[in-house]
Amino acid sequence: MATYKQPCFHCGEFIEGDSRLCPKCYSRSPFGYHCPACLKPVEKGQAVCSGCGRSLYVICPTCRQETFVGERCDACGAGLMIHCTNKRCGELQFFENINCIACGKKIKRKFGGK
Ligand SMILES: [Zn+2]
Ligand SMILES: [Zn+2]
Ligand SMILES: [Zn+2]
Ligand SMILES: [Zn+2]
Repeated sequence: MATYKQPCFHCGEFIEGDSRLCPKCYSRSPFGYHCPACLKPVEKGQAVCSGCGRSLYVICPTCRQETFVGERCDACGAGLMIHCTNKRCGELQFFENINCIACGKKIKRKFGGK
């Protein structure tokens, strides 16, 4: 079946309907939000993930306000995604993840402190 283009959820660019990555804004979830733990699609406003029960609101490490688990903080706009610290992997994922969703290795945390 031919795929037709759909607008990216984040930047509005029309991209292939089966894209896993927006080529314009590099979003990993161009058609909506995903639970950062189990990757089930979730909607903004949901309190917890219906798949794994994880809370979908977190405290932003930059401004300390509560924000939805999107790619950016709702309050200050700071990015909430980090790259896997394993050089061969580098997969982009949610900052709270302890182990990389792609390679399974532990991620060195850069947040906190300061
Ligand atoms: Zn985009
Ligand atoms: Zn989940
Ligand atoms: Zn923030
Ligand atoms: Zn990794």
